[in-house]
Amino acid sequence: MAHAVNEPEVLIVGAGPAGLTAATYLARFRRRVLVADGGASRACWIPLSHNMPGFPSGITGDAILKRMTEQATEYGAVVEGGQVESLTRDGDGFIARLNGRDLRIRAVLLATGVVDHHPDLPGVERAIERALVRICPICDGYEAIDKAVAVIGDDDKGVREAAFLRTYSDRVTLIHVGPAEALTEHEEMARLGIELIRAPIDNVRLEGDRVTALSWGGTFRSFDLVYSALGTSPNADLAEALDARVGEDGRLFVDAHQATSVKGLYAAGDVVRGLNQIAVAGAEAAIAATAIHNALREADGWTVRD
Ligand SMILES: Cc1cc2nc3c(=O)[nH]c(=O)nc-3n(C[C@H](O)[C@H](O)[C@H](O)COP(=O)(O)OP(=O)(O)OC[C@H]3O[C@@H](n4cnc5c(N)ncnc54)[C@H](O)[C@@H]3O)c2cc1C
Repeated sequence: MAHAVNEPEVLIVGAGPAGLTAATYLARFRRRVLVADGGASRACWIPLSHNMPGFPSGITGDAILKRMTEQATEYGAVVEGGQVESLTRDGDGFIARLNGRDLRIRAVLLATGVVDHHPDLPGVERAIERALVRICPICDGYEAIDKAVAVIGDDDKGVREAAFLRTYSDRVTLIHVGPAEALTEHEEMARLGIELIRAPIDNVRLEGDRVTALSWGGTFRSFDLVYSALGTSPNADLAEALDARVGEDGRLFVDAHQATSVKGLYAAGDVVRGLNQIAVAGAEAAIAATAIHNALREADGWTVRD
């Protein structure tokens, strides 16, 4: 495919931590990079992250994205708001549909993330912003030490999350809102001293820094924190339309260089791996960006040495 010099060579779909890290790497490899972003990075939800390497006092999700965007654009990456509507094969490259135009691209990195299944609670978004309802015990379980914690789940993932939180607190309650048969790990819950409540939640009240009331069928209980263990849906549609290989969990299958099963199509971050962490997204993005650059060098007749 002949490529005009002013067209982007690499399209990154998604300007979260994975996409922006890859954009910095590729721009510093002197590639023309366009980052298209739908504006829904999960990092926007992070009230204050304490496990981000290099930020001992913590950093908000918005600040992480701002710094990463500044770094990528400093080296010439272009970030454009908009949803990539479709991706189709065009010779060795792709055609991407973005904001009403068709872009011809040599390689694509999908850094499209996942969508959280939030519990159906009034005011849930505000509660997440205040870290009263949380999504990720790996991120912030440390901040649950000795707290009264409720985990909302609809299958055994809820048990696994509650068990994980026992590292931090001996007051962990699982509120199972799914069908009875979806919960099988009863012995494990008893062994770990996890209290079980089976009932759909019908109300939640937040006051100050506590979830003052969760209620079901007229019963009210108060907790310091609530974790949602209702899972996520990967944003893998663009890859699926190209028949990329997808795992049972809906995440994209990649090799050691973050290449999907479709030549020229790479993926990094939450859309690939269940360990949804910024450090992981950044590492995968660095691997993907380097592999993309080397693949393009090879296609252009440069010798690649591993
Ligand atoms: C409440 C909360 C707290 C968290 N706390 C931490 C923490 O303390 N530490 C930590 O390491 N991690 C934390 N995480 C997880 C972290 O936010 C994610 O692991 C990280 O954002 C993943 O980065 P990503 O780039 O893969 O995806 P995302 O950041 O989700 O970015 C994906 C982007 O792709 C865009 N997109 C999707 N499809 C398209 C399309 N077709 N066209 C254009 N754009 C598209 C989306 O709009 C989005 O902007 C937390 C998450 C949540 C929800």
